[in-house]
Amino acid sequence: MPRTRTTHCPSCDTAGLVATSNPSILNCKHCHGLWFEDGSLNQAIAQQHDFIDQYNHELHLGPALRTSDRLCRRCRVPMTHYQLLAHYATEIDCCPDCDGVWLDKHEVDQVMLSPKLKQALTDLNQKVSWKSWLFQFLTAMPVEYNIRPHRTPWVTRTLVVLCGLIFGASQLSPAANEWVFLNLALNSDTQSPTHFVLQLLTYQFVHGGLMHLAGNMYFLWIIGDNLEDALGHTAFLGIYLFMGAMAALAELLLFDTSQGPLLLVGASGSIAALFGLYLMWFRHASLTFMIIIYQKKLAPQWYFLIWSLINLFGMLTAQGGVAWVAHLGGFMLGLLLGYLLRDYIFRKNPLIAMLNEPEAVVQR
Ligand SMILES: [Zn+2]
Ligand SMILES: [Zn+2]
Repeated sequence: MPRTRTTHCPSCDTAGLVATSNPSILNCKHCHGLWFEDGSLNQAIAQQHDFIDQYNHELHLGPALRTSDRLCRRCRVPMTHYQLLAHYATEIDCCPDCDGVWLDKHEVDQVMLSPKLKQALTDLNQKVSWKSWLFQFLTAMPVEYNIRPHRTPWVTRTLVVLCGLIFGASQLSPAANEWVFLNLALNSDTQSPTHFVLQLLTYQFVHGGLMHLAGNMYFLWIIGDNLEDALGHTAFLGIYLFMGAMAALAELLLFDTSQGPLLLVGASGSIAALFGLYLMWFRHASLTFMIIIYQKKLAPQWYFLIWSLINLFGMLTAQGGVAWVAHLGGFMLGLLLGYLLRDYIFRKNPLIAMLNEPEAVVQR
């Protein structure tokens, strides 16, 4: 069989292949798929990533699935369908003879990002270990499994430090504690509108007890980093404070002030709103849930469903001391905002978008 190179497109059956700036990569002018001569795909992937010098995509391919109905443009033999990664079900065509690769237009970005996809899916698919078991057994806090953020979460860290400092200051003396609650907590009796608006922001940094602080800060720490990475620092901070203020207004709306003024403190409302964003953008992440000694990774929708039911129960049975409405109101606002910003976040973060595709395989 003659090994002549043709301009025949393996996909759309036209003579549409034209060379790109790299002569080993050809582009079909009709279907916009790409043909990669042996080795050129590895080069192209390596060029996309600063941290990769050499790449061998064949090493990461999932199983060979079946013979393709497309022919190699060089060897004229049927190509083979391979799954892109063991946990990413995009199917690409590889030639069994010359190792040339054909990518349909929609597959190009997925393949170019495949080293990052592979790392992310490895992180998401990690199994619970004795360490995660021991951590949750001792602290009663969930362990989070998600992708690693690209940016350092400076805003998240600063929020945690500020909450810690304000709590520490309030513990110095009874007078200090009184000052913090009088000035920074949200009080429905506050007369000055300016002061009230400021309190809508400052109440988010005040906590009534060490467990209240520790629980809130732990959740902010584990989910804030990914959200800050997806949104960018400034947008994350703005959304966090705005949603916290809205959660307080929700609590105030349903609060019966005839029983005395509402005094509200804590980051719980803001963090409940972050739960909503998280659920909308990181559906493949996991939070562990523990029943006595049995630990299980749960998808965010299941984890936050259980959390919502606990809050709903608290609200309906009117358990005092916890701002149930602020939690649920914040969470619903977060879900709404998360839904509205989904397309924006996915355009801005192609990796997060790809992980939300049905091709991503996560086992819990
Ligand atoms: Zn074509
Ligand atoms: Zn071939």
